[in-house]
Amino acid sequence: MFGLIGHSTSFQDAKRKAKDLGYEHIASGDMDVWCSAPPQLVEHVEVESLTGKTIQGAYIDSCFVPEMLGRFKTARRKVLNAMELAQKKDISITALGGFTSIIFENFNLLKHQNIRSTTLDWQRFTTGNTHTAWVICRQLELNAPRIGIDISKASVLVVGATGDIGSAVCRWLNFRTGVGELLLVARQQEPLQALQADLNNGQILSLQEALPKADVVVWVASMPKTLEIDPLSLKNPCLMIDGGYPKNLDIKFSGPGVHVLKGGIVEFYKDIGWSMMEIAEMEIPQRQMFACFAEAMLLEFEGCHTNFSWGRNNITLEKMDFIGEASIKNGFSTLNLTKNVRAAIA
Ligand code: NDP
Repeated sequence: MFGLIGHSTSFQDAKRKAKDLGYEHIASGDMDVWCSAPPQLVEHVEVESLTGKTIQGAYIDSCFVPEMLGRFKTARRKVLNAMELAQKKDISITALGGFTSIIFENFNLLKHQNIRSTTLDWQRFTTGNTHTAWVICRQLELNAPRIGIDISKASVLVVGATGDIGSAVCRWLNFRTGVGELLLVARQQEPLQALQADLNNGQILSLQEALPKADVVVWVASMPKTLEIDPLSLKNPCLMIDGGYPKNLDIKFSGPGVHVLKGGIVEFYKDIGWSMMEIAEMEIPQRQMFACFAEAMLLEFEGCHTNFSWGRNNITLEKMDFIGEASIKNGFSTLNLTKNVRAAIA
């Protein structure tokens, strides 16, 4: 069985969803009630691959909401309790979705393997970042040409280049896709220089220097709230792949010729009888989901019960090949620019 650990996008959404699901006590509770609420296994689901293989899955709501990010101990407890529940339900492979993988990595939860009487078995969990990185690269490869960008000549900016997803994206674009030029942005210089040496390529620039040069921007970092960008300073056309969470680039970057695509989202070939993706505000919640969630499904389809994506900067091109082939074979496609956008350009 595969599992998905997720959360609502806001406190208000979480309360609304709890009411819909009949959890009245939590729905009417204030933030303190929510902080102490245990995780809930809210849904079971059966999914049939394009190959005909059928698997079972479960969705666990961690009862975490983004408003709790500042409460370090609460956030840590929410993620660990949800992982404990997944293990107690004997789920073979569970993806940490939304903020839960970020909390796991940033708060170094590896140090907290024992939760009450349970010793967490890390092999049962994946961040899903390998599939996310592969999906973002494929979105770039499929969509840039559709708005008239020649990838082999394009300047591609990766914001968050030294991160787990960002570094995998840079390696793929450098060694597999073959882009014209790679522009690398992050805050710390040392990891940037190490990445540049690893790639034997790439220009390290500030965000302000890099943005006007980029034909394609892959954003795989949380966007600073205070960031102010003049959309007119961007190239026309410019493809922006919003791989961060939450997905909010379209608010900052609407301008002529700027096409913002939600990154790291996949669509299954047929409806899945679940309601869980409504929480994640997918446009077609019966089919669309975060690529990290889909990774748990893919690992279950492939009988690969291991923490496939784990730790930082461990994503290899071979792993991306494996998960990419599994993605296509089992019936996933990437979210692409709408036909309207492409028609307007043609
Ligand atoms: P990491 O923490 O590993 O990497 C974050 C990267 O962003 C680092 O390179 C960091 O470098 C850089 N960064 C952080 N803040 C800034 C800033 N203000 N300006 C420029 N660079 C910055 O994260 P992941 O790779 O695991 O995840 C990246 C993003 O992808 C996250 O927002 C995450 O939520 C999202 N994500 C989306 C998924 C999906 O949509 N399907 C699935 C999983 C994750 P430095 O600290 O040196 O600046």
